[in-house]
Amino acid sequence: LVRIEGVHKLYGSHHVLKGIDMTIKQGEVSVLIGPSGSGKSTLLRCINLLETIDAGRIHVGDELIGYKEVDGKLHHLKVKEIAAQRSEIGMVFQRFNLFGHRTAVENIIEAPTQVKKQSKTTAKKRALELLDQVGLADHANHYPAQLSGGQQQRVAIARALAMDPELMLFDEPTSALDPELVGDVLQVMKDLAKSGMTMVVVTHEIGFAREVGDTLTFMDGGVVVESGDPREIIANPQHERTKGFLSRVL
Ligand code: ATP
Ligand code: MG
Repeated sequence: LVRIEGVHKLYGSHHVLKGIDMTIKQGEVSVLIGPSGSGKSTLLRCINLLETIDAGRIHVGDELIGYKEVDGKLHHLKVKEIAAQRSEIGMVFQRFNLFGHRTAVENIIEAPTQVKKQSKTTAKKRALELLDQVGLADHANHYPAQLSGGQQQRVAIARALAMDPELMLFDEPTSALDPELVGDVLQVMKDLAKSGMTMVVVTHEIGFAREVGDTLTFMDGGVVVESGDPREIIANPQHERTKGFLSRVL
């Protein structure tokens, strides 16, 4: 479903992604790990068009992200076309950034009603189903301040799912949470994986990678150092840098 080929990203003269190649199959859970500054968030942001890439290509399904090819030439997409591509990709951040003055259900119906022009009734019905799916059916009318961090993050997941994305990106979704709240969020992600969602997950939760991941990719210094079966890599990392990193997080 996702093909990343030779992707480079620079911030000014700072070369952050140095030729990333990755493929993620339909229904696969791809876990991304690596030290701080290795480029994990930047890669997710490139997939989701929050950043433009400086070289390479990213395909999601049949779509070339950020560009279209006309007569063999690449053209930047227009704002509307970018919005359409982005609506196919859900993203969940470390910080849940829900709208504070809106209830859980109002947060979830925002994008479907504004971007997809769904009726409020349709969007609300779906929002309540999604809240049920993330275990918060009885919190629909709570404001973010009335929810725990873990509950807010589950609302954020429901909000991303409300756009019916074909791909979900998670950037350290549990690392801002108190330890006792992490499990519920991971459980929701596990269920989502089981339902067949294609997911790219940046996380330090090695247990999640081992249990749920189909692929584990270790990045360092803007390159993929090692990628493969999570259980094999965790048990038997091939590269010194992977060994060093895993020994620090395990
Ligand atoms: P962490 O584990 O700390 O989240 P990461 O692997 O997600 O790290 P990135 O956030 O992708 O790392 O950052 C990679 C590099 O790019 C870092 O050196 C960072 O300082 C730099 N960087 C990220 N965003 C920007 C930006 N908007 N402008 C300039 N430099 C940036
Ligand atoms: Mg990051």
